[in-house]
Formats: sequence, structure tokens, C-alpha cells
Amino acid sequence: MKCPVCENNIGFFSKALNKWGKYKTCPYCQTKIEVAINLKFLVIGIIPLIFFSIFALNPLVSKFGMFSSVLIGIIAGVFISFSLKLEKQE
Ligand SMILES: [Zn+2]
Repeated sequence: MKCPVCENNIGFFSKALNKWGKYKTCPYCQTKIEVAINLKFLVIGIIPLIFFSIFALNPLVSKFGMFSSVLIGIIAGVFISFSLKLEKQE
């Protein structure tokens, strides 16, 4: 994830982003930033995701059982992490 001010990459699992509280501080420029959900990206991406789960989930479940729900969870988690962006906190 890129800092909106200094363009430095802040790791998604870095200490700075995993602090408690809504507002985080960029470790490079000390700007107060906030993690926001990119709604447009979420809406555009969720439609194929729903179709995917309708058409792929049933055969997957019968084939892999529990493993497929873990897989869907991982896909959803990756997808949500991609839809997150950093915004400067005024
Ligand atoms: Zn920064």
C-alpha cells in the first residue's frame, strides 16, 4: 500500500498499519493516514466474485469439502486487502 503523501510503500502487515485505532501514521513522512475501502473497486470486483462462488462453490465443496471454504475465505481476504487504500487524514 502506498502512502498518499510521500508515495513510499507501507507493507500491509507492517507495524504502522496494524496499530490499534482508526488513524495510522506513515513511518516515512509521519503524515496521519487512514485506511479506507475503495468502494468502486469493491463493487466492481464483488459481482464476478458472487458469480464465481455460485458456479464454482458447489462442485468445489463436493470435491474438497472444508478446504474449499478456506480457499474462498483466502480469496475474499486477498480481495478485500486489495480494495483497501490509504488516504491522508486532514
Ligand atoms: Zn508517507
